[in-house]
Amino acid sequence: MLMSIILFVVAGLLLGLSFQGGLLLFLIPFAGVAAALGYMNLPRVPGGKTASLPVVTRAMRATGIAPAVTPELKNSFDDSAADYNEPGSTLRVNQVWARADADVKKAFGDMLEGLKRVVPNVHTVVVFSPLNSMKEWGIRAYASTDPNAQVATDVKITENSGLISQLFRLDVNRLLEGDLSGGKSLLYYIDNPMIRSLVAVPMLDRSKNRVGALVMDSLYPNAFGHQTAQALTYIASTLYALYFKSFASAKNYIEQQQFSVLYHYQHQFFKNMTVKDIYRQIFEYVKGNIPFDRMMLLALDKQDDNNLHQERVGHVVCCDGIDADQFFGKKFSLSDKGLAILALYHNRPVERTFNQSSFNAYIPRIDNQEKKNMEIRQLFVMPVPSDANTEQAELAICLESRKSDRYTEHEMNLLKAFAGVAGFAYARACQFERGKDLATRDGLTGLINHRTLHENLRTEKIRADRQKYNIGVLMMDIDHFKSVNDTYGHPIGDVVIKGIAGAISGEIRKEIDVVARYGGEEFVVGLIDTTPEGMIETAERIRHAVMKLEFDVHQQDPLRVTVSIGAFLVTPEFHDMKKAVTYADQALYKAKEGGRNQVIQYTELPLEPAPETDDDIPVLTSSLKA
Ligand code: GH3
Ligand code: MG
Ligand code: MG
Repeated sequence: MLMSIILFVVAGLLLGLSFQGGLLLFLIPFAGVAAALGYMNLPRVPGGKTASLPVVTRAMRATGIAPAVTPELKNSFDDSAADYNEPGSTLRVNQVWARADADVKKAFGDMLEGLKRVVPNVHTVVVFSPLNSMKEWGIRAYASTDPNAQVATDVKITENSGLISQLFRLDVNRLLEGDLSGGKSLLYYIDNPMIRSLVAVPMLDRSKNRVGALVMDSLYPNAFGHQTAQALTYIASTLYALYFKSFASAKNYIEQQQFSVLYHYQHQFFKNMTVKDIYRQIFEYVKGNIPFDRMMLLALDKQDDNNLHQERVGHVVCCDGIDADQFFGKKFSLSDKGLAILALYHNRPVERTFNQSSFNAYIPRIDNQEKKNMEIRQLFVMPVPSDANTEQAELAICLESRKSDRYTEHEMNLLKAFAGVAGFAYARACQFERGKDLATRDGLTGLINHRTLHENLRTEKIRADRQKYNIGVLMMDIDHFKSVNDTYGHPIGDVVIKGIAGAISGEIRKEIDVVARYGGEEFVVGLIDTTPEGMIETAERIRHAVMKLEFDVHQQDPLRVTVSIGAFLVTPEFHDMKKAVTYADQALYKAKEGGRNQVIQYTELPLEPAPETDDDIPVLTSSLKA
């Protein structure tokens, strides 16, 4: 009868708590409990014969029983150190843990309730489990036959606090106290009424770490025997298995969810995205899913196709957390000696833990000039794999935490999986942008081409009309360029074209004015929001800048060249930008006629009508204009 009740309770619990696939795990302790209870020594009534000793010596407590329990579970509840970010916008990790915790508590309560009913003379049954550390236990669940029992649920058992604390000792595998009236200090959970006997066993994980205790007490002396103690040992291992399984299930669930988040991002990445979109997605993912106190995204800048031997440089494209403003936008080169650069350079993950003693020497993340933070205890850098034929990674995610054990293998694997997906998308976006550049830019100078110029001028004109300002159009052509080619060869001619492109770019406002390589050795500049004087001034500045250029042609004197410039001012009343370019070209023709190396404005010409241009210039969609 008694046995069937206890089996029923245990089986009910197991069924209730065994998640998918978990049932088998419990059959072992289940059978164990059944067998143990089967020959357990039954009631010792007060005053009757007793099989247990009044006070058990330490040697006798140590029975050497090692219950078979499952591996230790990572304590994922530690919320004591909050991270800068609060991951979980997609998955509320802490809620899942809290739910598992509640399940465990309920299961423990049910189990104890069952025990209380089937073991005679029991007063209270209690489960202790670690509080903040393994060396500090508190009451996790209890059940009492006495409705008035005052159980001190806030009690803390530490290594030296009374009888139960004996179970911290590795050589104590059970406590069996037959008569506690001799002033033995209970000092653990109950004040009233007087407890006379007690049986207690530690809960052990697979590594035999003591992760709590199961205690049963009675108001009667000698209420429990060795067999009860042994049965309790098995029940303790069942409890631990329940505990483990429940948290393992929660962990599985979280991991499963984390991977479905990855899947979501994979989907995102398949959308048409620019490089900047990819940066944003990576940032969003990390912020929502992986804890950090600082995160940085480092990217190598685009390589100059005409100078493949130049050292690669890059900058921090995203940063969040500690001193983010100091790191955001920070430039670096691959020869800088920082941990994050190291990961990029070797295309390998880098993980470092900084313990207190080795921490006096700060190890730079990027370089020695950066702001040092001495609180950071762990760093993890994951390069994002690229399919470019480079030995280095193009992109890396750098995470830092104030906790030294923040990045476990699981987090690292998660980030690795994500980086794989992101890398694919990043390569695709780079390719897309490269293709876009090919269509819109000139390979030699990097300037926009003829087609893009007209598209840009049209867009600028719409804005100029709205805000009523002028656009100055300059058309320029290198003087006697044929002879440069003929004398020094085409490759030197190319160097000259590139040099002049640089000189022009240096004299106008980056990101505001427009400059294009219009033809072979012709350039067009659009000066946005200028005056008649401003336009001529800029044209003269460009002319002088070109005159100052010197090209080494392995002769005594360097090669010098000049340009002729035609200018036309587009006022708000003038609308045809194609015609504007044509007028500037006519002015250029006059400058050539007038002796070259000079600036001529169209208004100074006898006003002859510009020839109609009816060649239709193909227009790219405006989305291509970054
Ligand atoms: P002018 O002062 O009248 O402009 O005389 P010019 O010799 O410069 O005459 P023009 O502008 O007609 O010459 C264009 C020459 O530029 C012809 C062509 O050989 C050369 N050229 C055009 N594109 C390139 C290029 O990409 N590279 C090089 N090296 N030469 C180019
Ligand atoms: Mg020309
Ligand atoms: Mg020329």
